[in-house]
Amino acid sequence: MTATREDEQPLLEMRGVVKRYGDQEVLRDIGLTVRRGEVLALIGPSGSGKSTLLRSINQLERTDDGEILIGGELMGFRLAGGRLHELREEAICRQRLKTAMVFQQFNLFNHLTVLDNITLGPRRVLGMPRAAAEAEARRHLERVGLGHREQAYPRQLSGGQQQRVAIARGLSMRPDLMLFDEPTSALDPQLVGEVLGVIQDLAREDMTMLIVTHEIRFARNVADRVAFMEDGVIVECGPPEQVLDDPSDPRTRAFLREEA
Ligand code: ADP
Ligand code: MG
Repeated sequence: MTATREDEQPLLEMRGVVKRYGDQEVLRDIGLTVRRGEVLALIGPSGSGKSTLLRSINQLERTDDGEILIGGELMGFRLAGGRLHELREEAICRQRLKTAMVFQQFNLFNHLTVLDNITLGPRRVLGMPRAAAEAEARRHLERVGLGHREQAYPRQLSGGQQQRVAIARGLSMRPDLMLFDEPTSALDPQLVGEVLGVIQDLAREDMTMLIVTHEIRFARNVADRVAFMEDGVIVECGPPEQVLDDPSDPRTRAFLREEA
């Protein structure tokens, strides 16, 4: 197959990204690409910077150096001299809309029904009329297996169901890239499978995803590539069979031994 220029351009590209909290450099010269339709699993010990990396991508954190491009468009960067080049708020909002984030703690609005949780963004941010937003929300709810719970409130649902609603809410914003931050870490073990199953379905449908996870077996099954991060650095990144079964760096080997 002949690759077109658009195929060649990664959907997400990070170059030399640095993030500091005070004196602590929590992202150090991060370079990372995700191609359209690709699933990248990000693994690594607690405190290594995985959440900060995800949050930088959708501008929940302002980075201190480097470039983040989504679909070839710049999210934010610093000029060589160190002078922050502020993107206009409007440009940041537009860029942020290309991603959807799914959090460990679901972050649903507890006073809203499932349907209203999902339609809020499309109505308020995308300006969709209620009827259209609800029709689309129902399709996403079916997709995550919760078509029958649209009038429920989050507290009436299990953690696994709440997380599936959060995924439907992310999909409703029609993102180019879905970001998952340990989507199953807050769940009882028996509920993990239903959430991973939904993510696996999305992978089959070629949704582009960056998934922070502790589920090594899941990463192996679903990811096209796995990146191992430690201490603010991407130590290695490659196909699962390489990074998980035959890691080249001793830090990756030590981490995987601990996790096993
Ligand atoms: P991970 O998700 O891999 O566990 P994080 O990205 O949450 O790692 O954190 C990376 C480092 O940044 C940690 O040392 C953490 O303590 C620090 N950190 C994260 N958020 C903040 C913050 N808002 N202020 C100061 N330090 C922070
Ligand atoms: Mg984290």
